[in-house]
Amino acid sequence: MVRLLRDRGISDERVLAAMLQIERHLFVPIPLRNHAYDDAALPIGEGQTISQPFTVAIMTEALRVSEESKILEIGTGSGYQAAVLSAMGARVFTIERIPSLLKTARTVLESVNARFVAKTSDGTVGWKEFSPFDGIVVTAGGPGIPKPLVEQLKVGGRLVVPVGSHEYQQLKIVTKTGANNDYSVEDKSDFKFVPLIGRDGWPESDG
Ligand code: SAH
Repeated sequence: MVRLLRDRGISDERVLAAMLQIERHLFVPIPLRNHAYDDAALPIGEGQTISQPFTVAIMTEALRVSEESKILEIGTGSGYQAAVLSAMGARVFTIERIPSLLKTARTVLESVNARFVAKTSDGTVGWKEFSPFDGIVVTAGGPGIPKPLVEQLKVGGRLVVPVGSHEYQQLKIVTKTGANNDYSVEDKSDFKFVPLIGRDGWPESDG
């Protein structure tokens, strides 16, 4: 899997090392484990998916994680992205809106000794108590850039967020440039994410 990611253009050795270290099959439902190292998203229950490894790699690379970075993740899902961030030395704060998914993810994350704090909530409003963050990664796609997440970034911090329609989203890398919440945006390629449901996302009825 990691060889494929390298071939597809992922060059950050720290991202590749973390993805080599974290066993993705632990985050995949047992009946699908023979596909755990395919470069594909897989269902994890509740209509949600564990993201495709290439997507995880692109997003993690874009965050420019360093040791002790404080990273907020919106959409814990299986816990795989959080485990990769923790393996890179980040302090991970992760929010999931579906309680049963977080329960399973918590157990797996503890079993791999991840360093994380997690809660069930609407992540589009961020996690003020632990802000500001060096980086924020949103692993579900919404209609716009959630303003609270920009507010909760450090100046110079990066928010990686898929923005678009229900059908497809463009990955945006938002860099906060000033204390008054000014930011610059770099557009990456298009992806297909599950919907971001919440106050600064799609309405509940779209879930
Ligand atoms: N990072 C995950 C990807 C899971 S898919 C992984 O590595 O497996 C995205 C997740 O975002 C889903 O579990 C979905 O329930 C969750 N989600 C959607 N809207 C959310 C919101 N507003 N706050 C928190 N989680 C949300």
